[in-house]
Amino acid sequence: MLQTLPEALLNSLKDIKGFEKESFLAAHQQEKPITSVRFNPFKKTDIPNDALVLEEQVPWSSQGYYLQDRPSFTTDPLFHAGMYYVQEASSMFLEEVLKQTCDLSASLKVLDLCAAPGGKSTLIQSLLSPESLLVCNEVIKSRVNILSENITKWGALNTIVTNNDPKDFLKLPEYFDVIVVDAPCSGSGLFRKDPNAINEWSENNVALCNQRQQRILNDILNALKPGGILIYSTCSYSYHENEMICDWMIKEQDLNSIQIKTNADWNIVETSSAQHHAFGYRFYPNKLKGEGFFIAAFEKPNTAIQKTKYSQTNKIVPIKKTNSIQQWVKDDPSTEFFNWKDDVIAFPKNLFEEITNIQSALYIKKTGTTIGSLIRDEIIPAHELAVSTIKSESIHTIDIDLQTALSFLRLDLKNLLAENKGWNLLSYKNTSLGFIKVLPNRINNYYPKEWRIIHK
Ligand code: SAM
Repeated sequence: MLQTLPEALLNSLKDIKGFEKESFLAAHQQEKPITSVRFNPFKKTDIPNDALVLEEQVPWSSQGYYLQDRPSFTTDPLFHAGMYYVQEASSMFLEEVLKQTCDLSASLKVLDLCAAPGGKSTLIQSLLSPESLLVCNEVIKSRVNILSENITKWGALNTIVTNNDPKDFLKLPEYFDVIVVDAPCSGSGLFRKDPNAINEWSENNVALCNQRQQRILNDILNALKPGGILIYSTCSYSYHENEMICDWMIKEQDLNSIQIKTNADWNIVETSSAQHHAFGYRFYPNKLKGEGFFIAAFEKPNTAIQKTKYSQTNKIVPIKKTNSIQQWVKDDPSTEFFNWKDDVIAFPKNLFEEITNIQSALYIKKTGTTIGSLIRDEIIPAHELAVSTIKSESIHTIDIDLQTALSFLRLDLKNLLAENKGWNLLSYKNTSLGFIKVLPNRINNYYPKEWRIIHK
């Protein structure tokens, strides 16, 4: 389909470094979409996945690959198992920014403020040490479920999902070592993927986005520790949402810009903001294999840290790891457990008091990994456990083929020969999909109803 880009956008870009109108327009007429995925390092296996034909590695990503064609992800069980995330390639550059600005081997507290549906969160989580905490926040309630689903499938223990407005984070002063703001924006960088967005684009909307971006940043910066790192990104080409915001952060918020090294072959364009010469990194679809993207990193000045005592009311206390819990999880002394209503939840021991700190300020949607619900001393295992990295290797597992896996995911599993009565894990290509319970006369499927595949 021939795409006509807004003339006002093209005019506004003409003096911006790296913008070349003719080839930019030509890239927007490209027929074949670029598809890329990023693998989950905690679920890697040597078994080839025929559903994905890998073309080449995304040059700035350790786990990202371009695919030859766009497959039907819905009919690949490994997509549902959290083996990979379908992510646009340019945004995978966040990995380089994190590696160059933070000590990722340390125990960090990281906030992904605008997190749904979870692309950046799953990337960040893959890079953090197990002692680090990742808080994935989304303000829009209807988008928190997809964020929780993607975080659950990724399988990590050290995450908390929250549903809050940026200003709620004022209650957590100087708490985070790193904050990522992947801001809501006018979306011009994704015109190739979503041509309908072209009709919604206007100069007025760019100006509104600029105001909203300033508001979000103004609300959140108090939650960043002195010496902490702020990473700001958009999928817009507009100067007002990118370099102009960087200038504002230096002038109004006193942050210091950080330069990121890039490889010349990557064709990422380094820009400098007009007033304060902040470094920014632009991704143009005519220069590299990816969509439009902008990213910049900043450091908060290293003044003395206030000694903040976070509220400890409604303190979450750990419970003993009883035999009924023990049979479901790996024997790992660094994991602690607590009760939440009927559920038993696992969380890293070294981060345990952070649950209370976060809970005192924010609405928590999901914490760590739910093991299951405790009913009369017996655990009914949760789906989260099945796709987690902490489940016990001694849980009885049945490896199933593609058709059986798809039946399981559609909740119409019928003809499975399962001799082991009771709880069984189903796995496809060595990757867990979920639980079934084998009863004398039937099999109960415990795949979450709301996630089932509807498409035939
Ligand atoms: N980081 C996500 C990812 O990689 O999958 C994409 C985030 S998207 C670019 C921006 C997010 O900001 C959306 O989920 C949107 O709901 C959220 N948002 C919208 N208005 C917001 C506001 N006023 N404050 C904070 N977040 C907002």
